[in-house]
Amino acid sequence: MTASEEMIYMDNQATTRVDPRVLEAMLPYFSECYGNAASRSHGFGWEAEEATTKAREQVASLIGAKPKEIIWTSGATESDNLAIKGVVHFYKDKGNHIITVETEHKAVLDTCKALERRGEATVTYLKPKKNGLIDLDELRSEITDKTILIAVMHANNEIGVLQPIADIGRIARENGIIFFTDCAQSVGKVPVNVDEMCIDLLAISGHKMYGPKGIGALYVRSRNPRVRLTAEMDGGGHERGMRSGTLNVAGVVGLGKACELCAQEMDEEAERIKGLRERLREKLFAELDSIYVNGDLEHRLPGNLNVSFAYVEGESLLMGLKDIALSSGSACTSASLEPSYVLKSIGVGDDLAHTSLRFGIGRFNSQEEIDVVAERVIKEVRRLREMSPLYEMAKEGIDLDTVEWQHD
Ligand SMILES: *Cc1c(COP(=O)(O)O)cnc(C)c1O
Repeated sequence: MTASEEMIYMDNQATTRVDPRVLEAMLPYFSECYGNAASRSHGFGWEAEEATTKAREQVASLIGAKPKEIIWTSGATESDNLAIKGVVHFYKDKGNHIITVETEHKAVLDTCKALERRGEATVTYLKPKKNGLIDLDELRSEITDKTILIAVMHANNEIGVLQPIADIGRIARENGIIFFTDCAQSVGKVPVNVDEMCIDLLAISGHKMYGPKGIGALYVRSRNPRVRLTAEMDGGGHERGMRSGTLNVAGVVGLGKACELCAQEMDEEAERIKGLRERLREKLFAELDSIYVNGDLEHRLPGNLNVSFAYVEGESLLMGLKDIALSSGSACTSASLEPSYVLKSIGVGDDLAHTSLRFGIGRFNSQEEIDVVAERVIKEVRRLREMSPLYEMAKEGIDLDTVEWQHD
């Protein structure tokens, strides 16, 4: 018995199921078509190279890029590392200042911290507003003549908010600064265009968009301006010298196919998934009081809902929902004991961060599943609140902040 037979999967910001059409496209490249895409001397190599060329076109087309601007990587973590370290190392004579945001993915934050630790860069971490979006005037005011890179993600993986990346791109372009955006959560879900948004570097991950794990891409602008990167891995000089290593041909083909499907189906799918998200939200808010959406609702991924449930213990809530795959802003599901740094950064208190759930709705979720999840969450929150003296007091109108607690 696998988890999928007994559980509802609603954690599509953590990873997505490989679309069966993607799997089908990949299969030949594990068996008959096993050539090395770098082999120039025979048909096996040509066949593999042809497949990667097609995939490059599929990925490029989805984001309005040219095929040669796509560099294959092992995923968005590697793309984030290559983009940031690659720029810092290549442009070190020009400057060493990076501007990024507190709510970026760890692959961006920890890369920046590593560069700071080694004395290779100084980093400004912008604090987002309460709705999760950054303040563009603040961004402008942090730019110095040493700033070489602005790194701001498109869609946040926890709260789903969409940063105004076209505006950020314009600000970067006007100031002659390279703009990198981690689009692991947004490519294929909402429109992204590297020219319209003045994007110079962009990270993609296969497994966040119904492709396989362990494959990703970095878009690197080739002109107006041409962006240069120092390679972070030495080897055979693959991928225009920026990322050595024999290509994962099956993975590359899978990511290409995943992009093609998203290009064809994105508009309709976004509409459908947003409908499901709104259905879930409306049901929860119709039945429960003292619950809060984290992050802006308007500038948001269609498939993300992040809600805090006051007066319940996050741990107990998740325990009661064991047959539904969800993420929480609480410690018990992750390696660390801290509440989510993203929720903290947008001003959500520890209590409400610990009782937050992230609903990640995706391509394979049905309306029936939404209804089951809504019903189960409502039931579970009510059950826990019935046992909560705090909730009782709040309902009676006692202001909990003024209560003097008895310690002994
Ligand atoms: C998942 C994710 C990553 C990491 O991608 P991998 O392909 O798993 O390495 C980076 N950034 C964001 C925003 C993500 O959601």
